[in-house]
Amino acid sequence: MENIKLDTSVQYLKGVGPKMYELLNKIGIYTVKDLLEYYPRVYEDRTKLTPIDEFQKEQNVLFLGTLVKPVTLAYAKRKKILSTVVTDESGAIALLTWFNQVYIKDRLKEGETYLFYGKVSTVSGSRATLDSCSIYDVNQLDKIQGLYPIYPLTAGVTQNYLFKLINSVIDTGLMINEIFSDDFRRYYNLAEANYALRNIHFPKNYNMVNVSRNRVIFEELFLFQLALMNMKEKSIGFTNTNVYKDLDESEFLKLIPFELTNAQKKVIAQIKSDMSSEVVMNRLVQGDVGSGKTMVAAVAMYLAVKNGYQAALMAPTTILANQHYLELSDYFKKLNINVEIITSSTTKKQKEKIIEELKNNEIDILIGTHSIIEDNVEFYNLGLVVTDEQHRFGVKQRMKLSSKGNVVDTIVMTATPIPRSLAIILYGDLDLSVIDELPPGRKPVDTCVVNDSYNERMYNFLRKQIGEGRQVYVVCPLVEENEDLDLNSVEKLYEEYKKEFSEFNVAILHGKMKNKEKDAIMQEFKNNNINILISTTVIEVGISVSNATVMVIENADRFGLAALHQLRGRVGRGSASSYCILKSNNKSAIARQRLDIMRRSNDGFEIAQKDLELRGPGDFFGIRQSGMPEFKLANLLTDAKILEQTQEAVKNILEQDRKLELEENLKIKEALYTKYGEQLSNIVG
Ligand code: ADP
Ligand code: MG
Repeated sequence: MENIKLDTSVQYLKGVGPKMYELLNKIGIYTVKDLLEYYPRVYEDRTKLTPIDEFQKEQNVLFLGTLVKPVTLAYAKRKKILSTVVTDESGAIALLTWFNQVYIKDRLKEGETYLFYGKVSTVSGSRATLDSCSIYDVNQLDKIQGLYPIYPLTAGVTQNYLFKLINSVIDTGLMINEIFSDDFRRYYNLAEANYALRNIHFPKNYNMVNVSRNRVIFEELFLFQLALMNMKEKSIGFTNTNVYKDLDESEFLKLIPFELTNAQKKVIAQIKSDMSSEVVMNRLVQGDVGSGKTMVAAVAMYLAVKNGYQAALMAPTTILANQHYLELSDYFKKLNINVEIITSSTTKKQKEKIIEELKNNEIDILIGTHSIIEDNVEFYNLGLVVTDEQHRFGVKQRMKLSSKGNVVDTIVMTATPIPRSLAIILYGDLDLSVIDELPPGRKPVDTCVVNDSYNERMYNFLRKQIGEGRQVYVVCPLVEENEDLDLNSVEKLYEEYKKEFSEFNVAILHGKMKNKEKDAIMQEFKNNNINILISTTVIEVGISVSNATVMVIENADRFGLAALHQLRGRVGRGSASSYCILKSNNKSAIARQRLDIMRRSNDGFEIAQKDLELRGPGDFFGIRQSGMPEFKLANLLTDAKILEQTQEAVKNILEQDRKLELEENLKIKEALYTKYGEQLSNIVG
């Protein structure tokens, strides 16, 4: 085919029939571009030509062989057996055999020399045997010799087929777009795009593989980070008008009944330093479950208000927004700071009133769920936005909120301790603060893993705890694709517990309930009028009831470790001993391994790292939740080095050319739009 382009459908390529087209679709290949970006996972070493007299049993060999006799066809049982004998300069001979491939009879001619690749079956003296070797013409030596790409396959598509198909496209001389200027490539030591493409598929040696992979990964990560930066860093190059003069929070601290931990103080100091500078604050506050992030946010909001600005606190669920409101509003009221809350259960009338007051600067702090980023909510002078439990918000939502004020300071709080490499990529150039200390007196949650045969013992244990006045959570996994099924299982569980614990108050909480109902149940639980709360993961984040000491998690193997850690963090919030019972009947090694990590560790960072290693970043965050893309080649765990490089590169390029208008950056901009256009459309100017 002559003029194929990158967006040509692969169905027009020679050798791709309708059936093959469907198979290719199955592995994500629709266009020529998809095909070229279908990268090999590993390579087979075909770098050396091995003389026949050096063959060893089981060895994979690439060799030249001259036929000393024509191919013969014989029948054995139901098989057609084709065989011949070849030799080379060493004088040793190899007996080659194929099964059922009758065409080989015409393919190979006596006296001619061919290139073969295959695995040695036997060697005896100067005689070797090999089955089912691949056959190439000698003039292909240059192409074949090197590392042979091994692609991830689907049934019906063979290595050799993909090899030939990709090869045929590259042979047409089709060029892909080089988006980086020569200077840029030299500075970051990057191979040229077409060189990288060719040599990622058909490298001569491992050095070429590394150089080429490095280039492709660099481009992937570079574009992603550039997109992220553009999305959230509208403020790059902007200076802040709200430079705070008054950074004394002692008035506020006097009201709270405990001393801040050193870690909390450290993070507050970092926030204050942002507030007093001209740089817009973009800070990610990481803190394990229970480390006291809310207080840090409260101090920051207090300072914003004290300096004449409004502040907003955004939580992922109504329950959590309510909890923040309950925890903080009393303190603020004592300081004459006006706090309001908007959630999906706020009535229309209340909401209208709040919106009006916000505009008139009568409300200082607004707490809410993401409904506070709705378009009709306007602030008088929003100065600070705190987003709680960030991993629940997508990048887009973050964007929307920070576009509310002119240039707002942002604090993002997350309870999922994110390994540094991921924090860098997910949060671009946010500054990182870590609350790496729990308030004093907390005991680690005692965790065990059991199956259903322990039910009787578990029930007795729960009885004992409730007898001592404690409360219990029982959590059922939530499968988003099938909410009805979930409801079913949580309701079934509820019936079971009600029957078993007829002497106690058992209640149920799930996502299908109205917000009002949910809030009422949570309130009852907080008041200790409910002994056992059966729930889906709606209680996952942030809920704080210090009298609850037991967390039972059903089908625990169906949760991510980060989620399990979150759930477990719902207990152990007071000074009493707390317990987490992970129930699972899953016997697979990996499931056990994962739950065992939970049993052994109470450290969110350690768990997050292990979870990431076991499940990969996509699952770890939930792609939908994080807006995290799947990369073709980049691996966030192993490519942390390149990640740091691209981060620097993105910063440099935006510093010089924020809108990517310089001649040398136009191709980068084009690539950025092609890849991330949808997300960028209303952001990049
Ligand atoms: P998280 O970081 O998980 O959001 P919270 O902010 O909900 O944690 O805090 C957990 C509990 O610890 C809350 O009841 C809070 O009042 C309490 N707390 C916060 N800071 C301290 C502290 N320095 N000393 C004692 N208790 C604290
Ligand atoms: Mg919290």
